[in-house]
Amino acid sequence: MRIPNEVKQVITKLNEKGFEAYIVGGCVRDLLLGKEPKDWDITTNAKPEQIQELFSESFYENNFGTVTIQTGSEESSLKEVQITPYRTEAKYTDKRHPDEIQFAEKLDEDLSRRDFTINAIAIDSKGEIIDLFNGQKDLKAKLIRTVGNPYERFNEDALRLLRAVRLATVLNFKIESTTQEAVKENSELLRAISKERIRDEFIKIIEADRAYEGILMLQELGLLKYIVPELEEGVGVEQNLHHIYTVWEHNTRALKYTAEQEYPLHVRLASLFHDIGKPRTKRGEGKYSTFYGHEVVGARMVAEIMNRLKFPNEIGETVTKLVRYHMFFYNPEEVTESSVRRLMVNVGKENMEDLLKVREADRIGSGRPKAVPYKLRHMKYIIDKVSHDPISVKMLKVNGEDVMKELTSGPGPKVGLVLNSLLAEVLDDPNKNTKEHLIQRIHELDKQSPEELKKALERIDQAVEEEEKERMKKYYV
Ligand code: ATP
Ligand code: MG
Repeated sequence: MRIPNEVKQVITKLNEKGFEAYIVGGCVRDLLLGKEPKDWDITTNAKPEQIQELFSESFYENNFGTVTIQTGSEESSLKEVQITPYRTEAKYTDKRHPDEIQFAEKLDEDLSRRDFTINAIAIDSKGEIIDLFNGQKDLKAKLIRTVGNPYERFNEDALRLLRAVRLATVLNFKIESTTQEAVKENSELLRAISKERIRDEFIKIIEADRAYEGILMLQELGLLKYIVPELEEGVGVEQNLHHIYTVWEHNTRALKYTAEQEYPLHVRLASLFHDIGKPRTKRGEGKYSTFYGHEVVGARMVAEIMNRLKFPNEIGETVTKLVRYHMFFYNPEEVTESSVRRLMVNVGKENMEDLLKVREADRIGSGRPKAVPYKLRHMKYIIDKVSHDPISVKMLKVNGEDVMKELTSGPGPKVGLVLNSLLAEVLDDPNKNTKEHLIQRIHELDKQSPEELKKALERIDQAVEEEEKERMKKYYV
């Protein structure tokens, strides 16, 4: 078991002053699973003031009595260790917050207020394990089980309903059957939980490798309807002849693909939500039903959802745009440079790649993806093309004004010829594109005849052609 020195030192310091101190919670669970713990929590019978007295680099954080110690470690992973005094389960009248924090005298009391058996194991300074609720057994059996009566524990704090699903998803565990029954029967308690706390657990589920299994579990246990009820509207909604899956199955399978690809959160959310507007726009039944405008209706719903779950505006807007424009045309016969330019303005240049990822998820999530890699490559080729400035004299560090000034002449064909010649030279050697050098060249080129200068045009045409060939090769179109 690898316990960092910084953590050991904190425990030792507390012990030396006669206090009990244990590593506890998620980090013990992760240690026993052979995973790298994200953060380190220590519990002790010392009170916040006593902890603060011992550690100068500490701050007293919140009303849960937690004191955060700055380790001063350069090692990026371990800047802080959190010390929380033994606490007991105070009364929760609103199912959200304990009415007051109550410190406890004994480790047993602190362990018994923790949510699940696998999160209620403690380790002392010698590495000895204190496991009062058979957490290790549940770790082996891969089970999420509440400490004590699940009905009571969920009533104390309903966020635990969601934590159960989140832990099961992230760890690839099952929820033990009595605990699972209690989740189902108490799902409605989630109404009382703040959207921020719900959002944070929801994000952890969506970001998990097993996000797909997680979202199915949320639905089966009746929790999803208190998080994103709109998604449930797609359950059992059949699509038309192009689809083998219902809207719900299709949305969730799109998510599955993005998790397999390890795509970032916003792409996962956009894929999960991409067809969320279909149930509300469905016209007709069976093979020929339609869903016109589902992306517009869907985008509106998504903006609402992201807002409601208190996501920051930035990700809210991105996910909304990705859903809004996921239906872009990309048939090579239909797609034009100007239509792609318009799309880029609407979605944002920075989101184009993600939009393609959502479309890919849509395709794979349909269960029988049509063979369109060529279409997609063609689309990428057009995007590449319209994203880059074309080869032109605009690329030069000098312009027509400069040429006229240097040659003390007015406008005329000569100006264009000189600029083209400069461009031809810069195409051959981009290092030559400095104002200083080009100005010098203007005077030298001035001595050449128009016929000589015109040779540059061939060179430019050739460069344009080469660039196009390169791009076609790159996208294999
Ligand atoms: P993570 O890997 O996300 O940090 P974690 O289990 O460590 O998971 P934290 O929110 O860091 O979750 O909580 C640390 C510990 O505090 C938990 O392991 C558990 O013992 C206890 N705990 C957290 N939230 C609750 C809760 N709502 N009810 C009871 N105990 C909780
Ligand atoms: Mg933790």
